[in-house]
Amino acid sequence: RTTLSAADFVAMFHLVADRIEEEKVRLSELDGVIGDGDHGITMAIGWNAVREILTPELEEKSITDVCNLVARTFLNAVGASSGPLYATALMRGGAALKGREGADGAALAGFLAAALQGLRDRGKAEPGDKTMIDAWTPAATAAAAAAEAGALPAEVLRAAAEAAGKGADATAAMLPKKGRSAKLGERALGHVDPGAASAAVILAAMADGAAR
Ligand code: ADP
Ligand code: MG
Ligand code: MG
Repeated sequence: RTTLSAADFVAMFHLVADRIEEEKVRLSELDGVIGDGDHGITMAIGWNAVREILTPELEEKSITDVCNLVARTFLNAVGASSGPLYATALMRGGAALKGREGADGAALAGFLAAALQGLRDRGKAEPGDKTMIDAWTPAATAAAAAAEAGALPAEVLRAAAEAAGKGADATAAMLPKKGRSAKLGERALGHVDPGAASAAVILAAMADGAAR
């Protein structure tokens, strides 16, 4: 497909909810090592709430409306740090697609760049701070490069997902500067950041959803 519709976004978010549920235990285990052990549960609560509002009627709305509703639902369901972070990311990503019937590869790259900026504005974390930013930053960069080369939406998302996976792996070598893990200092070395790991799960699910 050369463009993704609102219905495609609904399908992608559905797959994100499925994958987060499947990865829930692993994500909480990662958070158990350097945080408070709830990241998988938290993300699953948020995305399962999102699943409830992903109805066929929603497919008739705009991509921006879909993203806004998903963002609001996630925010209301999630109390942890990731609630406002992802709500802002989804709202900004959705705003970047305002007025579009379909999103092409470049639009998808714009969606991811705007989502990353939302995460940064909300959380004030820098690259290298050992957070989800360390997955989302290379993801947005890889997406932009793929779009520049003329990639289709699913290929742009695939490039983003692969870069996010590598970015998440690289957080093991980073000292934590933000969030609960910051107080662990060097004891966090060698451990992957859970928020970066879940970012890779989300982007891989979006890529798979877009390819269906
Ligand atoms: P909490 O720490 O409130 O229990 P979660 O466990 O759901 O929240 O999320 C933890 C993840 O949130 C971390 O692994 C990290 O990736 C991310 N995170 C925490 N603080 C920030 C921040 N200021 N900016 C970006 N990401 C952050
Ligand atoms: Mg936690
Ligand atoms: Mg918590």
